[in-house]
Amino acid sequence: MPKTKQPAIPEAVQSKELHEEDRILSNEQKQQAIATFTKFLTQEHYRSTEERFKVLEMVLHRVGHGHFNADELYANMVMSKIRISRATVYSTLELLEKAGIIIKHNFRTDRSYYEVGFDEPHHDHLICVKCGHISEFVNPQLLSIRKQVADMAGLKVVDHSFQIFAECPEPGKCPHNQ
Ligand SMILES: [Zn+2]
Ligand SMILES: [Zn+2]
Repeated sequence: MPKTKQPAIPEAVQSKELHEEDRILSNEQKQQAIATFTKFLTQEHYRSTEERFKVLEMVLHRVGHGHFNADELYANMVMSKIRISRATVYSTLELLEKAGIIIKHNFRTDRSYYEVGFDEPHHDHLICVKCGHISEFVNPQLLSIRKQVADMAGLKVVDHSFQIFAECPEPGKCPHNQ
């Protein structure tokens, strides 16, 4: 049987891997995040403490360095000689999530992971279940699928979350696992 040639996928619908340098925030975006958090704390009657803003500052500083869990962020702050309690880091992350500044992910690990949620473009995740490596990608096809599905139900898309769980073909030789 002749080998059937795979049709080439047009570039407009290809998956594109997202790299760290794609995630750098502008100063304007950082200022906007601080303003959003200030407004949120006031509206929800939480105190605008210095510690809470130190946590936000560290979150913004970390953008481009991957997803983080609460303990990693706490360790970053301790390393930077910022006086803060672990409990404050945990509770502030919850507030930042409620304020829409960060997104919480459950990548089927025992911890929740966070990342900033207001930067563009919207991306999705490919998780290696063997070594836990998380890659980010953007695929325009997902955007048309979500619109198509929501349109059929007469709804307007607000957001989506899509995760692919996969394993490296040769565990132990995974480039992410070195
Ligand atoms: Zn792997
Ligand atoms: Zn991500």
